[in-house]
Amino acid sequence: MNIKSNIEKILNEIKPYNAALVAVSKTKPIQVLKEVYDFGIRDFGENKVQELIEKEEKLPKDINWHMIGHLQRNKVKYIAPFVYLIHGVDSLKLLQEINKQGKKSNRIIKCLLQVHIAEEETKFGFSREELTGIFNDAKFNELKNIQIKGLMGMATFTENADQVRKEFKSLKELYQSIKALHSDKENVDFEILSMGMSGDFRIALDQGSTMVRVGSSIFGERV
Ligand SMILES: *Cc1c(COP(=O)(O)O)cnc(C)c1O
Repeated sequence: MNIKSNIEKILNEIKPYNAALVAVSKTKPIQVLKEVYDFGIRDFGENKVQELIEKEEKLPKDINWHMIGHLQRNKVKYIAPFVYLIHGVDSLKLLQEINKQGKKSNRIIKCLLQVHIAEEETKFGFSREELTGIFNDAKFNELKNIQIKGLMGMATFTENADQVRKEFKSLKELYQSIKALHSDKENVDFEILSMGMSGDFRIALDQGSTMVRVGSSIFGERV
């Protein structure tokens, strides 16, 4: 397993699409992240707050830290001072807490709203109806210390590429319709559609992903 050649291969594949790569480094030790950093990677994704803050402390300050996992409201305060992008926002209450902590840190925190596009019940995220509701909620307009940069979604874990394609396609359509309807709002600036992981990032890119989150295809399987 050669991490460097894995990264080069993936960067070559995503280059024609002009998409960004987030290296999903969860469970991997600091030394391995440092190695990847030295190859030029600056965007890392973690799904646990504790692990994220430990790594942030020990690694160079020019890293963009992406919180890609489910985020509990009581933990927002720990990452608010430095987090680059929160991918998994799935409630207005969480958004209000991020806004509150953003204010304390004197920052505008960039967020993606997670949409439930998969068949599995276990994946978090807004339904389409809930998502539309957020943008039309008066409370949303009051949030000055967050900025919604776009949407994030995870497809069903299946061998069925047609199904995955359909799910990503529907997320892209939703992204475009919200962008068209709500770009006038000050805290909305759609430019990121975060979809695609190791198993499905090629399909996601074909369906319009602008940011892929890749872990095991870079670092090897997690144990
Ligand atoms: C772990 C994880 C990934 C990366 O998964 P791989 O299959 O290892 O590429 C991407 N997105 C989220 C939200 C994750 O939790």
